[in-house]
Amino acid sequence: MTAADLTAWGVAPDWNPDWLLTERHRELREKIIELCAQEMRANAERSDDELRFPRRNLELLGEHGFLGLTVPERYGGLGGDHLSFALVAEAIARYGCASTAMCYVMHVAAVQAIMLRPTPALVDRYIRPLNTGRIGTLSYSDPRTGGHFWFPMSSAAERVDGQYRVRKSSSWTTSGGFADFYVIQTTSPDFTGYHDLSVFVVDAEAVAAKPSMWDALGLRGNQSGAVEVAAALLPPDRLVGPLGDGAESNDEVVDPWFLLGSSSVWNGIALGAVDIAKRHTTGKVHEDTGMRVADYPTVQDYVGEAVIDTNAARLAAYSLAGALDGATEHNQRVLEPGERARADYLHWCWQVKFSAAKNVTHVVDKMLHACGGSGYRRDMELERYLRDGKAGWVMGPSNEVLRQFVGRSVLLGFDAIDYWNQRVDQRVLAAETRKLDAEGKRALARRLLAEADGLSEPGGSRASGGADEEARG
Ligand SMILES: Cc1cc2nc3c(=O)[nH]c(=O)nc-3n(C[C@H](O)[C@H](O)[C@H](O)COP(=O)(O)OP(=O)(O)OC[C@H]3O[C@@H](n4cnc5c(N)ncnc54)[C@H](O)[C@@H]3O)c2cc1C
Repeated sequence: MTAADLTAWGVAPDWNPDWLLTERHRELREKIIELCAQEMRANAERSDDELRFPRRNLELLGEHGFLGLTVPERYGGLGGDHLSFALVAEAIARYGCASTAMCYVMHVAAVQAIMLRPTPALVDRYIRPLNTGRIGTLSYSDPRTGGHFWFPMSSAAERVDGQYRVRKSSSWTTSGGFADFYVIQTTSPDFTGYHDLSVFVVDAEAVAAKPSMWDALGLRGNQSGAVEVAAALLPPDRLVGPLGDGAESNDEVVDPWFLLGSSSVWNGIALGAVDIAKRHTTGKVHEDTGMRVADYPTVQDYVGEAVIDTNAARLAAYSLAGALDGATEHNQRVLEPGERARADYLHWCWQVKFSAAKNVTHVVDKMLHACGGSGYRRDMELERYLRDGKAGWVMGPSNEVLRQFVGRSVLLGFDAIDYWNQRVDQRVLAAETRKLDAEGKRALARRLLAEADGLSEPGGSRASGGADEEARG
């Protein structure tokens, strides 16, 4: 199949906000569509059916330089900016394979986490060889803290004879068991609290994964199972940035790149579903009425709303990418620790992800309605887009969490978010203790004094009898 064949039956290019793109952006998109037509789309079905990691698609991306898309040319990359990344992720999800697109997003986010603090050792080991097909990923989510992936309770790092011994349990890792390197976040060696995090790169040999256990509703090829780094001894050059750089790394690179990229994947899936609906509804005729399905106003309404809402989400993503490009000289600027650029747009990243993830589930659902029972059949591919798109809402930060972040910070300020559960909410404390009678207050005071003197565990464990159990209001 050629790129022209692949785009001929979908939504016409007039509906792309191309006035925001440069010639270079368009060339990159055309190249990706060509690769999707050549091979990537055909591999998507097999990946989904067989839970097969999309290795060949990622190799193809490497062969054409896309694994180093956002790496400066002096390090062997294509020197692409944030908007290039958004366009490429969107096009892979739309025309090729959503599992591949998500592996690609995690790869680029991992590469950018390294490139926040590039050292000759990190660049030589992980960045220059990228286009040989080596891929990376981010392994952050922790089994003990769920979708609060910035809170790595099952992790540790300690100094051992000038090296670092790191331990990490991750409940989800895209490309888990298949990536060549894993960017992980652990608590820092001199642990001062969960805000004190450090970033390391770990090679595949030190990572245990069980890909055979992976099975999920959608994105079935992207192999996002649990991984474990038991006690890897890392030379000091595998530390990314200074010790304690983790929180800054999250705000400056991990969240912005991941949220922009994943939003673009959700937008690509939504557009791909509209493409399929256009192909089907314009081709199918009801002979009793002589009408094509596309002639029914109800179906036109579905498609009209889908394109309007998806283009709103896309415009938001492209605009965010433009803002990130403006803040970073098109991704060429190297930031010193303490310098902010992308982090100033973090609250925009949240909003972009929320709307793209919310939109995709609605759009794929409506496109399935527009196609009727035929859309329900697997051979039309729409149902795969529907299952793949479902991951958007639940992937961290989930849309529930993002809604909270935005609402809370709009109403109470950014500090109220309290990522690491450190700020005492005096209002809640006062409201709860007000419920205690005199004996309840004394019991609470006794417990707090014991904790303060180190005689009992913090938090009033059930074994020691919490104030809630003793309370009498
Ligand atoms: C396909 C896929 C690929 C993934 N790839 C990666 C990866 O490469 N690397 C990685 O690190 N992680 C990855 N993840 C993990 C992802 O980012 C989340 O961490 C994960 O989806 C959380 O799942 P959970 O079951 O722990 O949800 P939970 O956090 O237990 O959430 C359960 C429910 O509680 C809600 N909730 C949670 N916290 C709050 C709150 N504070 N306020 C209100 N509601 C809340 C949630 O929104 C949800 O409705 C991936 C996940 C998926 C599905």
